[in-house]
Amino acid sequence: MVFERDDAIGGILRYGIPEFKLEKKIIQRRVKILEEEGIRFKTKINIGIDYKAKQLVKEFDAVCIACGSRTPRDLSIPGRNLSGINFAMDYLIQSNRRVQGERIPTEELIDAQDKRVVVIGGGDTGADCVGVAHRQGAACVMQIEIMPKPQTCRTQDLPWPRYPLLLKSSTSHEEGGMRDWSVLTKKFIGLGSKLTKLACVRVEFKKDPQGCPLMQEIAGSDFEIEVDLVILALGFLHPEKKGLIQELELDLDPRGNVKTDEKFMTSKKDVFACGDMRRGQSLIVWAIAEGRRAAYKIDKYLMGQSILSEL
Ligand SMILES: Cc1cc2nc3c(=O)[nH]c(=O)nc-3n(C[C@H](O)[C@H](O)[C@H](O)COP(=O)(O)OP(=O)(O)OC[C@H]3O[C@@H](n4cnc5c(N)ncnc54)[C@H](O)[C@@H]3O)c2cc1C
Repeated sequence: MVFERDDAIGGILRYGIPEFKLEKKIIQRRVKILEEEGIRFKTKINIGIDYKAKQLVKEFDAVCIACGSRTPRDLSIPGRNLSGINFAMDYLIQSNRRVQGERIPTEELIDAQDKRVVVIGGGDTGADCVGVAHRQGAACVMQIEIMPKPQTCRTQDLPWPRYPLLLKSSTSHEEGGMRDWSVLTKKFIGLGSKLTKLACVRVEFKKDPQGCPLMQEIAGSDFEIEVDLVILALGFLHPEKKGLIQELELDLDPRGNVKTDEKFMTSKKDVFACGDMRRGQSLIVWAIAEGRRAAYKIDKYLMGQSILSEL
């Protein structure tokens, strides 16, 4: 049995990743296969809120939690309470719902049409927001990033086999818009309660005596960007603590993710964890691999042996 708090199965694949990157009919096709295999899905049930997690643990021999890692990193600077500043996931979830034909009440609508849009955060989530803003008919789209512009090919400081921290450009970037790096956002400026500008400054990175990067503002490099809509795509901190994690009093690792042992079991007996909830915001391939490995471990735990692949 799979419990899901949303109205449809798929997690970020359904409500985070835009339709232009992953068509939702692909997810629907997979869900149908899983249903035909005998898996039962119950949507609109928030475990820890609608259905007590302790009750679930009593009713099932094993429980695997795979609730993702969605607590967004915020930007606590002056003006943060102005209207027109939204988290990336709020924007992407709503946009996916609209693409599926859902009507969003006007007062809740986050729409880029004819607006000057700034996406703060230069990662993949930010790139998805850029693509969505283009499709909604934004007047202009800019993506800014605090870190310096990455190299386009490996340098001496970045030899193989180290992970290549190179400049990535997605189809959303090929479609248009501007990108800027080494930009620190200092302040949101508004007219009344409405956002109108971003106050920014350029930064450079030096190394401290221990060799750690040290960010310094470049004197006199302050500038402003006129903006109507800001999307915060600054990454994710850890899973949501409220609800399930708090109720089960689960131990967390130093990064705030759910801690498990080598059997994928959490600090609570018979409760297992996998995916982003265990390893932090990651990749689909990892979520699939973790799910499979957890399934093997749980099967072995319950049955003493397993015919599933350990991977
Ligand atoms: C915008 C964005 C774009 C991405 N693009 C890519 C990409 O192109 N390629 C790639 O490889 N990775 C991408 N990723 C990462 C990838 O989507 C995730 O690593 C993956 O979805 C993690 O899967 P998961 O099942 O662990 O968590 P999630 O996909 O977050 O799913 C967790 C599910 O648990 C449900 N849930 C949470 N709490 C409860 C509760 N208490 N009760 C019931 N249900 C609950 C949620 O509603 C959700 O459906 C992207 C991530 C983001 C945010």
